[in-house]
Amino acid sequence: MPTYAYTCKKCGHAFETIQGIDDKTPWCPECESKEVERNVATSF
Ligand SMILES: [Zn+2]
Repeated sequence: MPTYAYTCKKCGHAFETIQGIDDKTPWCPECESKEVERNVATSF
């Protein structure tokens, strides 16, 4: 499964998650904000 990297727009926390195609946008594990931005450039 691909791993996606996200950055929280609210607190700036960067995290990674394994996400299926049907899954919705995850939330920040630090502040639980759903204002997260997916980092496109992910190396495999
Ligand atoms: Zn956050």
